Amino acid sequence: MTTIKTSCPVCGDVELTPEQMRLVVCSRTDWSYYSFLCTTCNDEVRKPADDEVVTLLVSGGVMAEEWVIPAEALEEHHGAAITYDDVLDFALGLDRVHLLAAMISPRVQA
Ligand SMILES: [Zn+2]
Repeated sequence: MTTIKTSCPVCGDVELTPEQMRLVVCSRTDWSYYSFLCTTCNDEVRKPADDEVVTLLVSGGVMAEEWVIPAEALEEHHGAAITYDDVLDFALGLDRVHLLAAMISPRVQA
């Protein structure tokens, strides 16, 4: 049986089985992590998992969970944030969409 040695920040060294570990591999590499419940204090311990740690844990039998961050969530945005007033103006503007549609649709020649 494979034993994985890691540490709890409170209790020190901990030995776990692969089934006691959770490995989350993120599409954004620096957000990957592994976690476990400490067998002594029962706290959840979460630590970053770089490529080397991911390879080591997978080779030890830990199942990796894939975590894909949608590209739009990582986009950088500039300018002021949308306010409640902006949303309200947009909702009120939806009532006038038929006017806009009439303005941009081709006119029927008589
Ligand atoms: Zn602990």
